[in-house]
Amino acid sequence: MSEDKIDKTTDVLTDESANNQKKDDSSEYEKVCFMCRRPESKAGRMIGLPGGINICTDCMQKSFDTMNNGNMDYSSLMNNLPPNVSMIDLSSLQNQIPQNQRVKKAKPKEEKKQEKTFSLDDIPAPHILKEMLDQYVIGQEKAKKVMSVAVYNHYKRVFAQKEDDVEIEKSNMLMIGPTGSGKTYLVQTLAKLLDVPLALTDATSLTEAGYIGDDIESVVSKLLAAADNDVERAQHGIIFIDEIDKIAKKKNTNQRDVSGEAVQQGMLKLLEGSDIEVPVGANSKNAMVPLTTVNTRNILFICGGAFPDLTEIIKERLNKKSAMGFQSDLKDKYDKEPNLLSKVTTEDLRTFGMVPEFLGRLPVLFTLESLTEEMMVEILKEPKNAILKQYKKLLAMDEVKLEFNEGALHAIAKLALEKKTGARALRAIIEDFMLDIMYEIPKDDNIGEVVITQEYIEHKGGPQIFLRGQEIPQLGVLS
Ligand code: ADP
Repeated sequence: MSEDKIDKTTDVLTDESANNQKKDDSSEYEKVCFMCRRPESKAGRMIGLPGGINICTDCMQKSFDTMNNGNMDYSSLMNNLPPNVSMIDLSSLQNQIPQNQRVKKAKPKEEKKQEKTFSLDDIPAPHILKEMLDQYVIGQEKAKKVMSVAVYNHYKRVFAQKEDDVEIEKSNMLMIGPTGSGKTYLVQTLAKLLDVPLALTDATSLTEAGYIGDDIESVVSKLLAAADNDVERAQHGIIFIDEIDKIAKKKNTNQRDVSGEAVQQGMLKLLEGSDIEVPVGANSKNAMVPLTTVNTRNILFICGGAFPDLTEIIKERLNKKSAMGFQSDLKDKYDKEPNLLSKVTTEDLRTFGMVPEFLGRLPVLFTLESLTEEMMVEILKEPKNAILKQYKKLLAMDEVKLEFNEGALHAIAKLALEKKTGARALRAIIEDFMLDIMYEIPKDDNIGEVVITQEYIEHKGGPQIFLRGQEIPQLGVLS
């Protein structure tokens, strides 16, 4: 028995030491120059000094030059230190580089071949990708189709470019849709299905370099972090920039427009593809953070926004057109058109305040519909990780069956529509109603089934509770 115990403790010990070894094993990461903080891949060969310090040849040369030009007698420095003063232990500083600021070494060619590399075979054909998206995202058929094709073409372009000289245009996207209609969710699902790193960011937080806020290039830094500091993986990732409508050019202002047009201009190079120097493991460049270079040529940029009042611009354009010429129509023909947003053109977006060059770099333009009550109900129950499925699973662990009747689902959908925040409202509403249920049910072992009714949602009654082995519900127990 006691031997057994000893065995186990040694097991634990060896496990622990193995872990430590893993932590210490820095061979996977590049060396970083102690002085300029550039990694090996940028600064070139490193000179190793005692105590684990590395210095690049440039910095070493600079140090020698400074020493040679100065008249200081360095040798006397150490000897003249007062007894209670010691030199700083530089090696301890070197070891302080946090794990998230270390760049992974680029793999040597042979190793790369052995490891499964990302190839076009990993990208499903558009119809398969669309089917996969269908399992998560309700409605938005057009958007799913356009995205599947654009993504497929994008990755075809990524893999084709080395072979011939027909350049396929980059398929960065601009998606327009009301809040909570699934823009972010679509992109997140897409990245998950493709297994590529994804960085989400908000256009409102971006500013031109030099202003307070994240500078534009910080989005690439986020992507690098999402790719575990693996530059190669980051270079075929996806960057989603939400609330892009908030950086529209402001109309009728004479002042310099810091937040809008300048940011759009600043993003041009990024969208098109260029080498960006990004800080590793931090949002902004500073002297203490190592830098690395990421090329954005093969990064897929997706911009999204709700573009409020865009429908007014579209309506105005359409009405103007139809009221002109021989076949002129009623001036307000389009006033009641239900799906105006889908008629958007780049011309409308220019009127909205987007810069033409910016729009030119987002060639795939599509819209998402506002969610209807019917879609809300489906969102509640159909997707693979639907909210209802999650609650059912939670209660099933207590061996309690949870049901929602159709009336209840529609009542929840109606409440959500009133909030005007799209499907985002659903979870909050359900959570509110489920709180009592999740609190009360585990109290009583006899409860076998709960049915959420329309009356319960409308505060006119309680849920139906069935005891185990009992057919007749006990109404209103939790009301
Ligand atoms: P936005 O369009 O404002 O980016 P989100 O994508 O963040 O909206 O949507 C909020 C949440 O609502 C998502 O996390 C998702 O769970 C749900 N949702 C929104 N639209 C759909 C949809 N069409 N199908 C399934 N779930 C959706």
